[in-house]
Amino acid sequence: MEKTLVLIKPDAMVKELAGHIITDLYKTGLRMIGLKLVNIQRELAEQHYSEHREKPFFEELIKHITGELHNQENVIAIVYEGEDAVKKVRELAGKTHPEEASTKTIRGKYGRMHSKTNCFENVIHASDSPESAEREIKLWFEDKEIID
Ligand code: ATP
Ligand code: MG
Repeated sequence: MEKTLVLIKPDAMVKELAGHIITDLYKTGLRMIGLKLVNIQRELAEQHYSEHREKPFFEELIKHITGELHNQENVIAIVYEGEDAVKKVRELAGKTHPEEASTKTIRGKYGRMHSKTNCFENVIHASDSPESAEREIKLWFEDKEIID
């Protein structure tokens, strides 16, 4: 069974969209096996997005995910499990750029560009491969927090 990590990002939290997003995610038919509210600190954010460390948007990305841009430090982290979990959640999440994402996707429905920066307010994170999912889930969850 494949696992994937979803983060409901601060832009969605500040707009009180968590319930809508979780409802949308039920469409995947995947099983939720872990969920928690996390006050995300810079260290965890940098580890989570370490592959992007050298990118020009890295600082903005860290400001976004740690809630500095939205004055909202909490994110919801969810682990889903099921067949093709990574692909199913990525498809429902939609394209990275919120203005390019289909309106049938979570990012297309709820995302936008941040008004004062080039930050993508793209609502959720979704693991991009089973290997990334495994690494990210270990970062965000202890074994005992995952339901078997
Ligand atoms: P995520 O990892 O958050 O699920 P993703 O896998 O669709 O998003 P990545 O390429 O991993 O896209 O980028 C990670 C995050 O970095 C994006 O969600 C977005 O917030 C930001 N980002 C990516 N590309 C750009 C860009 N060209 N300009 C500004 N921000 C970007
Ligand atoms: Mg990614």
